[in-house]
Amino acid sequence: MIFLLLEASLSFFFGLAVGSFLNCIIYRISINEKPKGRSYCPRCKHKLSYRDLVPVFSYISLLGKCRYCKEKISLEYPLVEFLTGTLFLFTYLIVGVSIELFFLFFVLFFLILIFVYDLKHYIIPDFANFSLIGLSFLYLFFFSFLENDFNELINGLFSAGGVFLFFFLLFYFTKGKGMGFGDVKFVIFMGLFLGFPNILVGLFISFILGAIIGLLLIALEKKKIKSQVPFAPFLIIGTLVAYFYGKEMIDFYIEYAFL
Ligand SMILES: [Zn+2]
Repeated sequence: MIFLLLEASLSFFFGLAVGSFLNCIIYRISINEKPKGRSYCPRCKHKLSYRDLVPVFSYISLLGKCRYCKEKISLEYPLVEFLTGTLFLFTYLIVGVSIELFFLFFVLFFLILIFVYDLKHYIIPDFANFSLIGLSFLYLFFFSFLENDFNELINGLFSAGGVFLFFFLLFYFTKGKGMGFGDVKFVIFMGLFLGFPNILVGLFISFILGAIIGLLLIALEKKKIKSQVPFAPFLIIGTLVAYFYGKEMIDFYIEYAFL
């Protein structure tokens, strides 16, 4: 019990710290700066001290304002930190301490990066996409050799190829109006990561969610029908739900669809 609590809080606080690092990276790549050197306030450029950099808690103790120039700090920073902490904790509670957990921490890192970046800038950074593809491939490859069973690797490769082809054709025939090419690259990762039939669950959730939110935004007149909606956040939510609950969802579907 003590160990469980210790590991759970470690996962959460580690997630908070990773979230803080993510904020820094997301900001630096958006202004095209190498993420090195100390963090600073985007307005007054004052270097931040360690007490300004404690995830979530600094934001609360500073009441959301820069210590030096009193500029409002975006709520995005504590939100990303809290989201990362929560997802790390949740993942630990589901898979426990294992190689899979560390693999998933890396995957979550890039997924949250893409989620926030695409939401803000309508772009999926290539290095994040390629890192996800490389990571999942290596993970599958590693376990295939370890267990001397290549079914999952073959499944992942075929799923990735199939879903890439489908999205590429969709991209080609809609002339890129439906989604960006970043999304086409992203689904390669989804195929490797989820495999068949989970990939179908992931895509199904993404499209349903995208349609609902898209219609809501149009109804609220926040977006026009033709305006761009970032699609990666929906793909990411679909991916995570399918990874953790895809099997249960398929079982549930089969049980009730064939009564
Ligand atoms: Zn400032």
